[in-house]
Amino acid sequence: PVAFQGVVKEFGSTRVLHGVDLDIRPGEFLSLLGPSGCGKTTLLRILAGLEQATSGVVRIDGADVSTVPTNRRDLGMVFQAYSLFPHLTVQQNAAFGLERRRVAKVEAARRALDALRLVGLEHLADRYPHQLSGGQQQRVALARAIVTEPRVLLLDEPLSALDAKVRVQLRDEIRALQLRLGITTVFVTHDQEEALAVSDRIAVMDAGRIEQIGTPEDLYLHPATPGVAAFVGLSS
Ligand code: ATP
Repeated sequence: PVAFQGVVKEFGSTRVLHGVDLDIRPGEFLSLLGPSGCGKTTLLRILAGLEQATSGVVRIDGADVSTVPTNRRDLGMVFQAYSLFPHLTVQQNAAFGLERRRVAKVEAARRALDALRLVGLEHLADRYPHQLSGGQQQRVALARAIVTEPRVLLLDEPLSALDAKVRVQLRDEIRALQLRLGITTVFVTHDQEEALAVSDRIAVMDAGRIEQIGTPEDLYLHPATPGVAAFVGLSS
């Protein structure tokens, strides 16, 4: 499991996270949902070890993430877009994390193909990123993220650069793959419909705090605050 305990983050004199407590269960798909600037990405970056908390701690299976070296963090990440290496083929992109971990080239290539098969892109293994659509590029990024079989998958608005139809399709594919692999997933989005469609639970954030956490049904039917109601629920 992943546990945020009293996580505070300040940039200079601005406090952007006000002591976040959050437990993420093994195998669950948890969305961080909230308006732009509420601190979702910062929370994810602290979990990834890309940013240090000002105070508080984040643990993955009990270990404080800030003490684990970057290459041992056992996380896969997918960002908004344009994160593939342009000079590497699809297969080489997918294999990237393995080669960094000193997996032998032949083995890395085989596992990269397996990951590409899971996202339905095996047939494009020899192409370069600029030859792919936006949705295909994000599938490659997903393959690259899961190829190391990480304990936790972090998705930071992975659909936001895509057009509406592809968004829905890839959203559903990501959820199906997550269920199939049983991988603990944290999904950052500002789109309530997206979060409601794919999540086991949603943590609704506002201004550096978690306002409410619950299943899509809980939040939709029983919003705890007017803010949550306005954002996800039936505002009655
Ligand atoms: P968005 O969806 O727009 O990315 P978000 O909810 O992910 O929003 P964050 O990116 O976590 O929000 O940002 C939270 C706040 O922290 C914002 O006010 C942002 O301006 C500020 N912030 C983020 N990174 C830095 C930084 N490196 N230096 C200073 N301020 C920062």
